[in-house]
Amino acid sequence: MSQQSPHAIVTLKPKRDQSIRRRHPWVFSGGIKQIQGRPEAGDWVEVRANKGAVLGWGQYAPNASIAVRMLSFSEIQPDDAWWNDMIQQAVQVRLELGLVDQDGQNCCRLVHAEGDGLPGLIADFYNGVLVIQCHTPGMHRHVDILTEAFRKALGDRLVGVYDKSSKTLAKNGGSPTDDGWIWGASPENHVAWEHGHRFVIDWEQGQKTGFFLDQRENRALVGSLSRGKKVLNVFSYTGGFSIYALQGGATEVHSLDASARALEVGEDNVKLNGFDSQMHRSIQADALDYLKTEAMRDYDVVILDPPAFAKRASARHAAVQGYKRINLRALETMKPGSLLFTFSCSQAVDDALFSHTIVAAAIQAGRTVRILHRLHQPPDHPVNVYHPEGSYLKGLVLRVDGEPCNMTSAEDDAFAEDGMSLDSED
Ligand code: SAH
Repeated sequence: MSQQSPHAIVTLKPKRDQSIRRRHPWVFSGGIKQIQGRPEAGDWVEVRANKGAVLGWGQYAPNASIAVRMLSFSEIQPDDAWWNDMIQQAVQVRLELGLVDQDGQNCCRLVHAEGDGLPGLIADFYNGVLVIQCHTPGMHRHVDILTEAFRKALGDRLVGVYDKSSKTLAKNGGSPTDDGWIWGASPENHVAWEHGHRFVIDWEQGQKTGFFLDQRENRALVGSLSRGKKVLNVFSYTGGFSIYALQGGATEVHSLDASARALEVGEDNVKLNGFDSQMHRSIQADALDYLKTEAMRDYDVVILDPPAFAKRASARHAAVQGYKRINLRALETMKPGSLLFTFSCSQAVDDALFSHTIVAAAIQAGRTVRILHRLHQPPDHPVNVYHPEGSYLKGLVLRVDGEPCNMTSAEDDAFAEDGMSLDSED
């Protein structure tokens, strides 16, 4: 059983129960009036309103601004049956979406943290292999119960469970852990299918859980608009967008990333999907440097999918500068009639702020720019209506017209240097 006794009780200040009653899952440390007991990182705590009404149960994080992440909004402490039920529901949603075990489609996110009522837990499924990433010590403590629950919910579809929590836990005050298999097989050169395309998934050395499942539908859109086009995929990682562009009939695709390893896997993916390697080129470079070059005038479609610049509100300003800068570079240099797919996966930069930032870049570039599509995350990355912050991925498809104007000046560089970094926060 996951219960401990006696448990600590966290009582909130007056009025600080309101957001919790609306089922927002975060208790901020500043909203706590009193803690009875001495909870440690990851312990269950019962959360009460100022006058004592029980609001639910959450997991405790000392020294963090989000002191408790709520898992249950009932008086009953979650037990093993509760975990089974939560996992069963999350898996059922993806099975019904046809993302788990269809022909040509067998990878998806099975648990998207708050979006599935399980703050601190990411679980990505790749053709039989489940990669679990816990962001909180409380969630990691339940990794065995979770594994059992996934085995029950997935049955024979599951062949192995890999725990990739060491880095994410270290950032959130967890004790050191090792990444590795916690159940089942350990396949090498594992391949998963997305919309009929094959991808090598490297959870061990790859970023996050190995692949960016959240761009599935946006990649399909790139594919549908690539016929006869020359495509540049900036921040390509292992070439997700590139494979769809090739499949969609692009004449040539260039994948650009700072990581040699990601580009190597991308080249394997090009071969695996049966494309002529002449049609694809890997460019290991810094994105900003390349976006300034004359080569940009050759592309009909450009994709910009940078890493998260801001996970926290405190980093928002620098993130906005970062988005403005890379989009300005692209908008200055792209040829008339080309398409720009531009994304932000920073939680702290919302839709409106991202759009405004792109408008500011368009004004400065002096181009004619139309918004053709507004893009978001796919349904296996659901947004809990009580936690709108979970809507993190946004994108715009822009048609760029008018002559490129060379506004890259020393003055502009000095302005934009202000704290902007292309390094991901993670
Ligand atoms: N579009 C990808 C995911 C991008 S993840 C997909 O669909 O799978 C972000 C990528 O940006 C990572 O691969 C990282 O190596 C790369 N990156 C980070 N900083 C960079 C920089 N300054 N220049 C080029 N690439 C960078």
